[in-house]
Amino acid sequence: MSIEVKNVTKIYGEQRALNEVSFSINSGNIVGFLGPNGAGKSTMMKIITCYLPQSEGSVKVCGFDVVDQPIEVKKRVGYLPEHNPLYPEMYVREYLEFIAGIHKIPNKQKRIDEMIDLVGLTIERKKKIGTLSKGYRQRVGLAQAMIHDPEVLILDEPTTGLDPNQIVEIRNLIKSIGENRTVMLSTHLMQEVEAICDQVMIINRGNIVANDKAENLRAFQNQQMIRVEFDKSVAPNMLKTIAGVTDVERVNDKTWLLGSASDKDVRQAVFAFAVEKELSVLTIQKEEKRMEDIFKKLTS
Ligand code: ADP
Ligand code: MG
Repeated sequence: MSIEVKNVTKIYGEQRALNEVSFSINSGNIVGFLGPNGAGKSTMMKIITCYLPQSEGSVKVCGFDVVDQPIEVKKRVGYLPEHNPLYPEMYVREYLEFIAGIHKIPNKQKRIDEMIDLVGLTIERKKKIGTLSKGYRQRVGLAQAMIHDPEVLILDEPTTGLDPNQIVEIRNLIKSIGENRTVMLSTHLMQEVEAICDQVMIINRGNIVANDKAENLRAFQNQQMIRVEFDKSVAPNMLKTIAGVTDVERVNDKTWLLGSASDKDVRQAVFAFAVEKELSVLTIQKEEKRMEDIFKKLTS
C-alpha cells in the first residue's frame, strides 16, 4: 500500500475543508483525484506531502506517518504543487542542481541529465525558467518532483493552464512515468481521468463521494444525454414514456435533459412525441457529460 488515509479531517478556521476522508492507494497505480474547485484536493495533497498537518486522522505514505516521520515520507514522495512554484531567474540546470542538492543526491550531474532527458527538456535545458512556455515549466516541475526517484508522485492539477498540445504531451509523460511508480494526480476534468488513470476518486466539499476503477466510470460515460427545448411546458412523466429514454432531468419547464443508452438514438422518438403532443421542438442537441451527472450516478 503506497498511501493510506484514515479519517482525515482538516479544519481551516470554521471551515471543514476535509471531512473524515479515508482511502488507500496501491503501489503502481495512477489515481485520479477528481473534484470541482474548492473540493479539498489541494488540501489533501498538502497533507500527504507533509506541507500541512491534518486536524484529525492519520496518513501513511509507504508505511511512514506524515506527522511522526516527515523526513522518511519526503524521501519517498515527489510533489508538483498546484501553481508549480519555480524561480524564473534561475536556469533550468541551475534549478535542478539546487533541488538535487536539497535531496543530497549523489552523482548530481548524471541524475540531472537523466531527468532532463526523461521529461523532454533537452532543447530548453540552457534557458532561464522565466523564458520557458508553460508546458516546459511543467516539465521542469516534473523533473524537480522526480529527481530523487520517489516511489510516490503527487501532482496537483498538472495540466491546468496548458494548451491542448501541451496537455497531450504532459499526459503522455505522466503515463510513462506512472509505469513504475504510484501517481496521484488531481484534476477537475473528467477527460483527464479517462485518458490516464486506473483508479478514480471523486471528492466533493471535503467528502469522498466515489472511489472506483476508471473503467467503471467509462461505462457510465457511455450513456448518452440530449438536451431538448420545447415551445411549451412539458411534464416529466410524459417524457418518460418516450421509447428509449431512461433518465429525465429538468432544466426548466420547457427544457429537459433526456438520458438513453449510447447505442440508442432517441431523437426521432422525441420528434414523434412532440408531434403527438402538439409541441414544437425548438432545439435538440447532444449534451456533454457534466461532473454533477457523474457525481449523481456514482453516489446513488
Ligand atoms: P481544491 O484544490 O479542490 O480546489 P482546496 O483544497 O484548495 O480545494 O480548498 C478547499 C477549501 O478550503 C476551499 O473552500 C478553500 O477556500 C479552503 N482553503 C484552502 N486553503 C485554505 C487556507 N490556507 N485557509 C483557509 N481556507 C483554505
Ligand atoms: Mg486545488
